[in-house]
Amino acid sequence: MTEKTHITTPEPLSEDVQTEPSLRPQRLAEFIGQAKVCDALQIAIDAAKQRREPLDHLLFHGPPGLGKTTLASLIAREMGVNFKATSGPVLEKPADLVGMLTNQREGDVLFIDEIHRLRPVIEEFLYPAMEDWKIEIRLSDGPKAHTMTMKIEPFTLVGATTRFGLLTAPMRARFGIVQRLNFYPPEELAYIVRRSATLLGVRTTEEGAVELAKRSRGTPRVANRLLRRVRDYAQVKADGFIDIDVARDALRMLDVDEYGLDEMDAHVLKTLIEKFEGGPVGLNSLAVAMGEDATTLEEVYEPFLIMEGFLKRTPQGRVATPRAFRRFGYTLPARDVRDQGTLFVDEG
Ligand code: ADP
Repeated sequence: MTEKTHITTPEPLSEDVQTEPSLRPQRLAEFIGQAKVCDALQIAIDAAKQRREPLDHLLFHGPPGLGKTTLASLIAREMGVNFKATSGPVLEKPADLVGMLTNQREGDVLFIDEIHRLRPVIEEFLYPAMEDWKIEIRLSDGPKAHTMTMKIEPFTLVGATTRFGLLTAPMRARFGIVQRLNFYPPEELAYIVRRSATLLGVRTTEEGAVELAKRSRGTPRVANRLLRRVRDYAQVKADGFIDIDVARDALRMLDVDEYGLDEMDAHVLKTLIEKFEGGPVGLNSLAVAMGEDATTLEEVYEPFLIMEGFLKRTPQGRVATPRAFRRFGYTLPARDVRDQGTLFVDEG
């Protein structure tokens, strides 16, 4: 599948790698939305600074692209400390962390993305580091292995995960602050689009920005990506100016529909409707029928489809809602017409 079909995926694409850092807010006050999370962070930061102590270990969870990495780096900046980032899957053995942990200064932030994917040996290694500021280094292998205990400076571990439920209980218990990030409402995303447009040197009308925002799946990463793609279109076709017509034309060309659904979302819902009569069907069967990985389906595509009322998780499995049937021009199965009033809450 080409990247075009994934244009509204909330996960990072290669094209994001270069531009994302330049669009990242530089201060917590510049971070738009997630007011509850930001307020809680500001209080924790102020209190830690007053006590001249490192900030408590902190965990962010929620769908990809909502600002977990951004917040982690903002925290380091607000605390006036260094920031290092790594991720669960790249850490193979404790030795991969030794350098990072021993080089840290007091209060520095170590960010671990996808922390639910840490290997058990790494988790075991991290517990004493997080709790008692010490690490155990193995000097040799085998049953009589020698180990050496080393003190490290107190630091702040910031973890991020899209799968809170997969985090082990002992790991979860070691975070003093746990915050969930939620999808952004369109007005906040429109604000983010306008801010990014200014940074990228593109002009947009208010309506143009709102149009991009509405189709961004509640996700700043997607909003920024759509802005960049529409900017290219505007540059070639409309003197670089994004008004509502340019936004609509460009998004039509990019196959992003009015809900921000792309071909992949359509594929999920159409498979559910065509091959399973709308469900209920188990996640794995659906994933196999689509030729997609079950985890990606569950973490990346489902949250937005559920929020927008196209899909439901039921104890029997995944179900397409009447809204999904209507969106793709299918007639509702008889059982849904009968049950519509009681089974589904559907305004669409
Ligand atoms: P996550 O770590 O949750 O996957 P990131 O922190 O990498 O998400 O955010 C993706 C991009 O979206 C960032 O480069 C940033 O520019 C933008 N972004 C995220 N949240 C915000 C926000 N609240 N305000 C402005 N830009 C944001």
